[in-house]
Amino acid sequence: MALDNSTMGNIMGASGSDLAGKLETATKFTKLEFSVKMNCNSCVDQISSHLRDVPGVSSFQVDLETGSVVVETSLPSYDIQNLIQSSGKDAILRGTGGQNQKNLGAAVAMLGGESGFSAFGVHGVVRLTQVDEANCIIDGTIDGLTPGKHGLHVHECGDISKGCDSVGDHYNPHNVSHGKPENDENHRHVGDLGNVEANEYGRAVFRITDSLVKVWDVIGRSLVVSSSEDDLGLGTDPQSKIDGNSGKRVACGIIARSAGLFENSKKICACDGLTLWDEQNKPLTGEARQQQQSTSSRL
Ligand SMILES: [Zn+2]
Repeated sequence: MALDNSTMGNIMGASGSDLAGKLETATKFTKLEFSVKMNCNSCVDQISSHLRDVPGVSSFQVDLETGSVVVETSLPSYDIQNLIQSSGKDAILRGTGGQNQKNLGAAVAMLGGESGFSAFGVHGVVRLTQVDEANCIIDGTIDGLTPGKHGLHVHECGDISKGCDSVGDHYNPHNVSHGKPENDENHRHVGDLGNVEANEYGRAVFRITDSLVKVWDVIGRSLVVSSSEDDLGLGTDPQSKIDGNSGKRVACGIIARSAGLFENSKKICACDGLTLWDEQNKPLTGEARQQQQSTSSRL
């Protein structure tokens, strides 16, 4: 579900009523595990006060000793991260899962253009969490889009050797026509996730519940956001039944397995000594990361 910017802008001081409008299609809850920098009991109180009585947050636990905050919610992870950070504490999403203790699978796709994920152009992070046998939550933030609607699809393979052009067509194991996400498996591609909507600043924040996508079935495939709105197969021309006239592929990423709840205990990157907190907002590779390494070594 896309959020308009006026709503997003208010998240830092979000009250219950700010978030109430985002819940109409959210029926399945996700558990989100964050690492949060906190060192005193008042931190726990501050964070708790920002999560308490928020529509879409059904429960939460703040653990000072482990530095973790677990939130059970039907809101996008972006919103929850902002709520925690509005207490003045940094928060990093460590794992996702369903309401059951059993982890059914989680995955992540880092979306970028021809050269992969970067801070430029269209880029984003999309998480897939299998919350029960039937339902997968697709939760993401994509930046750099033109304002308006853009198709979002799982494509059949994870080959990005030629950028987004080599990931194949929409994932379509039943060999049927393109359609809207609400259709049954005979009237949509499994990969058809409909549209996400970017605000005037080009950011799309969304949380989709889908009953055909299964995490275990799409790991190793790709997620692609397109330049145009997906007509959901309702157009009269042949292309509508192929890709919904959703236009060019503007960013893509391979869907990779990620940590479920409490599966990621990493505190430090063994490769170069960056701590979890140093990693935040730092480049994944390259010269800028090396410079950061020398900084952190003085800590
Ligand atoms: Zn399709």
